[in-house]
Amino acid sequence: MIKPVNYEPSQHFGENPTSVLAADHWLIQKFGNYQPDGHTGIDYPCPSGTPVKAVTAGTVLHVGWFGGTYADNPYWIAPGFAGFCYVVDHGDFVGIYAHCLEGGARVNVGQRVTEGQVLGLSGNTGGSTGDHLHFEVLPDGWITDSRMYGRINPASILARITPQSTTPAKGFLMALSDKQQDEMYYKINRYLDMKTSHVSKHVWGTQVSRGGKKISALQELADAKTLISKQQATIDALTEAVKKLGGAA
Ligand SMILES: [Zn+2]
Repeated sequence: MIKPVNYEPSQHFGENPTSVLAADHWLIQKFGNYQPDGHTGIDYPCPSGTPVKAVTAGTVLHVGWFGGTYADNPYWIAPGFAGFCYVVDHGDFVGIYAHCLEGGARVNVGQRVTEGQVLGLSGNTGGSTGDHLHFEVLPDGWITDSRMYGRINPASILARITPQSTTPAKGFLMALSDKQQDEMYYKINRYLDMKTSHVSKHVWGTQVSRGGKKISALQELADAKTLISKQQATIDALTEAVKKLGGAA
């Protein structure tokens, strides 16, 4: 079991019940009495574009927005409020990952996912006032027509996090912490975003746009590598020059 993103929560389960707030509270005005008994999940503030990971293995039940009303889907997810979301059957509970980036999906409905597999990218869709991931949990045998809409505290599920499962995934980024990896992905995401002038759905694609032409992302990376290697001679020459002048390397 791992955390869906490696950021500290900003709002825990059961916090900030809206039923006790003054009627003129701006959040209530904007979204209605949306969490009368308190927050139904855990919020993690993280930059839009942060990879959202499956907390444990499972099967993807839903990707994207819900239509209709909250009573039209089996999880009682308020369609407009949850935004672009992922619903995953994790065996003895269902995980809901909400307010994600439109079009950032990296999985399909029916797909089997492993622990830590990236489902998509976090965002700020639906009834959200800032970049964050909202994660909530429906236990086996949930009753939606109830307080908290059948949700339980995700902390009870995440308490099963083991030291082994917090180890960063092996690969060329293995020397970095999860948070550093997230930030690097975020920067790559923003970089490609600027190049394509499109929403981030192209980020995980195989093509990027350069000079008005579509080129392979692998070609783009290869060109970047060539550019760096060309500059390497200059960097080496400057390093030698500084050393000769008596500067510390
Ligand atoms: Zn939330």
